[in-house]
Amino acid sequence: MSEAGEGEIRRLDQSTIERIAAGEVVERPASVVKELVENSLDADASRVRVTVERGGKDGIRVADDGTGMTRENVERAVEKHTTSKIGDISDLEAGVSSLGFRGEALAAIGAVARVTIRTKARGESRGTELRMAGGEVETVEPAGCPEGTTVEVSDLFYNVPARRKYLKRDATEFAHVNRVATGYALSKPDLALVLEHDDREVFSTTGQGSLEATILSVYGREVAEAMVPVDGDGADLPDGPLDGVTGVVSHPETNRASPEHCSTFINGRYVTARAVRDAVVEAYGGQLAPDRYPFAVVFLSISPESVDVNVHPRKLEVRFADESGATEQVKSAVESALLDAGLVRSGAPRG
Ligand code: ADP
Ligand code: MG
Repeated sequence: MSEAGEGEIRRLDQSTIERIAAGEVVERPASVVKELVENSLDADASRVRVTVERGGKDGIRVADDGTGMTRENVERAVEKHTTSKIGDISDLEAGVSSLGFRGEALAAIGAVARVTIRTKARGESRGTELRMAGGEVETVEPAGCPEGTTVEVSDLFYNVPARRKYLKRDATEFAHVNRVATGYALSKPDLALVLEHDDREVFSTTGQGSLEATILSVYGREVAEAMVPVDGDGADLPDGPLDGVTGVVSHPETNRASPEHCSTFINGRYVTARAVRDAVVEAYGGQLAPDRYPFAVVFLSISPESVDVNVHPRKLEVRFADESGATEQVKSAVESALLDAGLVRSGAPRG
């Protein structure tokens, strides 16, 4: 297997290094969907169609009507550490408004799958089709295509069998994809997002601009009618790092056994913040049956220096400078919302 003796330190070869690094970005089909949808949003798309087969294991396609790329740019975009979004670390410290900036995603996906990108930049007369696999660009050709970008990913992890083996059942992988797509749909009510799985439309949002309409599209009427608004801005909130806590939460009776319908957004970015979710649940007091979770869509606004959204390469986890302050504020805002709607008893100690 190796020429080196035991205990000897060797440098890994380049392709091994690349596949390991790619695994940090691409863990499963849902991470591919996340990266591609973020790219579409960063490219100003107003319509995004996400199509997956067998939970994304057989195929993932994300098509947008965004700015598109010129031939030169698409060739550059699939290289490692190439981005149009920041120039150097000072841009990062000043706070990035784009969802991406690491310049890793396309290269990483292209290292562990077969990828076809069809793209046409706005105002260009023709488009480009680029094909790559296993980290190598295979062909780049002119192509007739509409303005915008379509990225097709197939055979995820075909060259990393150990990873491929750890993918779960189609339904489980699809649940992750669905959660990601739902998160972006909820975060951007002016985005028209369609999600399709194995030739079935799972949901489609109109992009008409209201959170209520988006919730109706993704969760259906029963849930939409059970939601009450959360409207905590500066003055109503206890002291803490958050400038605002807004969104909607469900009646205590409208709940589920798993927490995946509690979505948190920080400054518009979909994040995983267990502490925030726990604070939402706590606000229900005893009204929620044990081990049940409400539906919740919670938008937090906070000054960028009080939160680190870059803790994890997959960028979903966040860390607050003052977590207990933030969670108290979330709890208070949700409590007020439930109280105003007459859904929890007043008189419990607050604040
Ligand atoms: P990042 O998003 O961190 O910049 P990516 O590897 O995801 O890195 O993308 C590299 C670059 O490719 C982006 O900075 C952008 O210029 C371009 N790009 C990727 N996807 C799209 C898209 N859907 N539409 C237009 N440009 C795109
Ligand atoms: Mg990106």
